[in-house]
Amino acid sequence: MAVHGQSVAEPPAAAASLSYEALVELDQAYLLHPQHHPADHTAPVIFARGEGAILWDVQGRRYIDGLSCLWNVNVGHGRRELADAGARQMAQLAFANAYAGASNEPAITLAARLAALAPPGLRTTFFTTGGAESNDTAIKTARFYWSLRGQPEKIKVLSRLDGYHGVTMGAMGATALPAFHPRFGPLPAGFRHVPAMDADALEAAIVEEGPETIAAYIAEPVQGAGGVYPPPADYFPRVRRLCDRYGILFIADEVITGFGRTGTFWGLQQWGVTPDLLSFAKGITSGYLPLGGVILSDAIRDVLFAQPPDVKWMHAYTYSAHPTCCAVAHANLDVIEREGLVARAARLGARLQERLAALGELPYVREARGLGMMGAVDLDPAAVPGSAAAVVGEMKRRGVFTRHRNDTVMVAPPLVIAEAELEELVDVLAGTLRDLARAR
Ligand code: PMP
Repeated sequence: MAVHGQSVAEPPAAAASLSYEALVELDQAYLLHPQHHPADHTAPVIFARGEGAILWDVQGRRYIDGLSCLWNVNVGHGRRELADAGARQMAQLAFANAYAGASNEPAITLAARLAALAPPGLRTTFFTTGGAESNDTAIKTARFYWSLRGQPEKIKVLSRLDGYHGVTMGAMGATALPAFHPRFGPLPAGFRHVPAMDADALEAAIVEEGPETIAAYIAEPVQGAGGVYPPPADYFPRVRRLCDRYGILFIADEVITGFGRTGTFWGLQQWGVTPDLLSFAKGITSGYLPLGGVILSDAIRDVLFAQPPDVKWMHAYTYSAHPTCCAVAHANLDVIEREGLVARAARLGARLQERLAALGELPYVREARGLGMMGAVDLDPAAVPGSAAAVVGEMKRRGVFTRHRNDTVMVAPPLVIAEAELEELVDVLAGTLRDLARAR
């Protein structure tokens, strides 16, 4: 068939079981993927099925899901009860308007359930469909709040180098990984990126910009996509004190770290720190349906809710408080609670960190680090030809699917991974490193 004069593969008449080759041909003809370049997509893995921490592709190959897909499938794949919860809600009421003046039961009860799980002093949730929307919402809400407080000049947002907050136009401004910016400019105004783990540098930036111009500071409790960087123990307590001293709202981007990933329910709990706004996504549904949100402090909520009728918070997404997504989130939280997955993440996470730390002793590994069920190893690219990209490619051939950034291999398996599978994951990483480093 021809599309705009180009010969392309014939689309199938209906959903059918196609060969791998036919799927690749159609994919290459019709799909633009996240972070797309055709050279990276010549022989894609086409996933077909999942169960627990294991994925199978359409060719029947088995992979350990080394990154919980995109750090999100916390309860693992193939959970019938999440599918049933979604199907039940869809059959009853798949979607309904939840703009002010309307609501639905799954969203109401999920917001109430999150209030009980949220850090102290945060109880009001706005739902989105993902991480970037959540961070956009948090940033807009911070500006709105300061404007209501009579300080409309407080608009700037400080974020941290190597931080990833999503790539919508707003979140992209906060994302401080250089690869995400070229040719998408101009970036939105009002964002400044500061050194990631340095409270003194943060304070210097606050003073230089002028605290009266700064609305918010945003950070991941453990930087994820940037390469899995946990902070020094005193970093976030110091940041909290700085935000209080200078009147800056603290946005915790818990999109990866929420829902047990680090071994506590929220990442910031590791350091006993409470944010003013908490962004979440990913683990709220373990990826079964798209859902995210922002939880607001009572102080922010009180200001928003105390306005005259003509001062509305004019922020909205069609799919905010989506009943089916919220119903699936309930089922996901049921699994996390019933199976004690936060405690499991702490226990298995300790084992993961122990095994990664041992890799840190190898001459071709520069550093191994992590927290709970997220970890990374930095390679010496001079000692490992092709560095982390080659390692991740070879791990895929050996049955572990994960991702890398620059010279860093990252892992973050589902919280339900079997202990033997966790050992297998690290064995494959270790064996691949050893073999590739030796091949020099
Ligand atoms: N924040 C963090 C910490 C993330 O890891 C991500 C996605 N990896 C996002 C925000 C953006 O989420 P989404 O892709 O759902 O927009």
